[in-house]
Amino acid sequence: GGILYIVGTPIGNLDDWTPRAKNAFETADVIAAEDTRHTQKLLNRFGIRKPLISYHEHNRHTREKELIDRLKQGETVALVSDAGMPGISDPGEELIRSAIACDIPVIPVPGPNAAVTALVASGLPPQPFLFLGFLPRNTREREEVCRRWRRVEATLVCYEAPHRLKAMLQTVLEVMGDRRVALARELTKRHEEWLRGTVSECLQWLEDHPPRGEYTVVIAGWEGETPSMDDSEETAWWQSLTVIE
Ligand code: SAM
Repeated sequence: GGILYIVGTPIGNLDDWTPRAKNAFETADVIAAEDTRHTQKLLNRFGIRKPLISYHEHNRHTREKELIDRLKQGETVALVSDAGMPGISDPGEELIRSAIACDIPVIPVPGPNAAVTALVASGLPPQPFLFLGFLPRNTREREEVCRRWRRVEATLVCYEAPHRLKAMLQTVLEVMGDRRVALARELTKRHEEWLRGTVSECLQWLEDHPPRGEYTVVIAGWEGETPSMDDSEETAWWQSLTVIE
């Protein structure tokens, strides 16, 4: 039978491309890509020529059957998204589950991932952590989600589009309180930037520096009804906003 490879790709810096990812693409009979034109460019850069088939949110139901049929016939499929790990706020989840249900070997080929990359450098506890992906666009629903996770004693990691970042942080402030946050902007890219401070400090900063580019937001977990952020050395560097460009 065939194999389904889940292949991670760079989240900005092409030097994060791994030899194993290249190998998986070379081994594959077909590459299932979120955006075939985007992936084609990446393949061109690395001199790989392979047939591509699109697999995204809007065609996944029909494509899933086709891909599973091919896997059953012994073909090897490499699943890839536009950036980072497939399935992480990207297409892939259902295909992976179907393959597992059909006893098709599923082999992950790890690559960069914005959530974990932001988490490890945030300065907040890396474990436990809770990955929330994109919070809902609708304010009511976003508040609902924030309320649901408010009392969880785990560092929270979210993705957000630049034009929704302020609204998202506003909801976090209102529902979860003025917690410590780290905003990781343009990770691995030339204009990588870090903003560490409280939610209100970051919102203040963003008033004068409109968000641009890609952001991952790391939020401190629940610390009780009245967090004491003033007496420990550990929290000292959070006392005022820090921006690292
Ligand atoms: N599958 C990807 C992964 O493994 O990280 C995530 C895909 S999701 C559609 C895209 C979101 O991830 C962006 O809106 C942003 O929130 C976050 N992201 C992706 N690349 C990033 C980067 N270089 N710096 C900061 N955040 C990034």
